[in-house]
Amino acid sequence: MNGFEETALGLFEERFSGGTELFFAPGRVNLIGEHVDYNGGRVLPCSLSLGTYAAAAREEGVIRLASADMPGEEVRLALSELASLPLEPAAFARFGWAAYALGVAAQLIRAGYSFGGFSMAVCGSLPRGSGLSSSASLEVLTCAVVSGLYGLGLDGVTASKLSLAAERECAGVNCGIMDQFVCALGRKDCALLLDTHTLEHGYFPFDLGENVLLIMNTKKPRRLADSKYNERRAECELALRLINERLEACFPSLCTVTPEALAEAKDALPPAVFRRARHAVTENARTLAAAEALGVGDAALFGSLLSASHASLRDDYEVTGRELDSIVRAAEEQEGVLGARMTGAGFGGCAIALCRKNAAREAVRRITAVYKAETGLDCEIYTAETGDSPFGRAL
Ligand code: ADP
Ligand code: MG
Repeated sequence: MNGFEETALGLFEERFSGGTELFFAPGRVNLIGEHVDYNGGRVLPCSLSLGTYAAAAREEGVIRLASADMPGEEVRLALSELASLPLEPAAFARFGWAAYALGVAAQLIRAGYSFGGFSMAVCGSLPRGSGLSSSASLEVLTCAVVSGLYGLGLDGVTASKLSLAAERECAGVNCGIMDQFVCALGRKDCALLLDTHTLEHGYFPFDLGENVLLIMNTKKPRRLADSKYNERRAECELALRLINERLEACFPSLCTVTPEALAEAKDALPPAVFRRARHAVTENARTLAAAEALGVGDAALFGSLLSASHASLRDDYEVTGRELDSIVRAAEEQEGVLGARMTGAGFGGCAIALCRKNAAREAVRRITAVYKAETGLDCEIYTAETGDSPFGRAL
């Protein structure tokens, strides 16, 4: 048992009773394909060995939740009360962090699954609020707990859709399907190429050869992320409408627009809106190229695509900010680094870098120093390790 499992179990025994089972759901890092999951594009994330653990047991008619990572009392709610709550953020706001887990249970009820109460003590090994999707990890974990305790036989696609519905309707974050999908269906040693329009997906070996993937946490909270996220979504919707009107076309999503069609519609779009659309179209192409580069083990090409993605997110999509630009630039300047980019929503959180194994230690030291000198912040840098998800191998 690892320390996180021990903590979850210890908390369970302190607060609850009953024979427990242990569960895990991973966090994720998106390798490439950023800000395209709500534009029907392709994304290429990996599930991580970092994630959220739970010790859980059945209860009579009540849900009881506690987290080792959040101070405070347990959150307790009768199933009958949960069933009568409207599925909207205002009804779940009072539960704080537990809204993610209760939201999943509420979505399971709405979808017609029949289950009883449960108690669940959680403990996470992921940094929270840093773009590695601790929220989706907690949601998918709750699906795994309820399905496991009550034999619901949930499959990964269903679990990811229910988790997404909880995040949107109960937690009030209007995100795309990527996070929940890869937390539910990712596999160790694999990257998952997902078409967010059709949900078609495939696994690529995540074998970087002589290289490692570094995850660089800027430690800058993503304060702007939510408001800018909604603004970008609105700009993308506007771009799609204007392109379809100008070309008398019916592209179903921005990422299905071809580069030629985008060029032809250019003067129908305000300049900033055109740049948002150009990011979506070019990022989608980069993602496919990156999956192919992984497939043939071309780390140099993979690295250059990471850097091109960051440039597009910085210049066209404008979601990076001072800290992410600083850490990415610091990484790219180092010997042995093949490419780097922000990952997640942007404005803070994490970035990634592809680095030769034998140069990684020195690169980490220098990136940390340059970043500190430029921003005054102490970053944290981890080597990414992939991990299995609860629904990734079951069919
Ligand atoms: P991210 O998903 O990038 O980590 P979010 O802001 O979407 O950031 O989600 C973070 C929130 O998820 C936390 O503030 C908390 O409410 C909830 N959460 C995640 N992990 C845990 C945990 N181990 N215990 C309690 N709450 C958690
Ligand atoms: Mg999240």
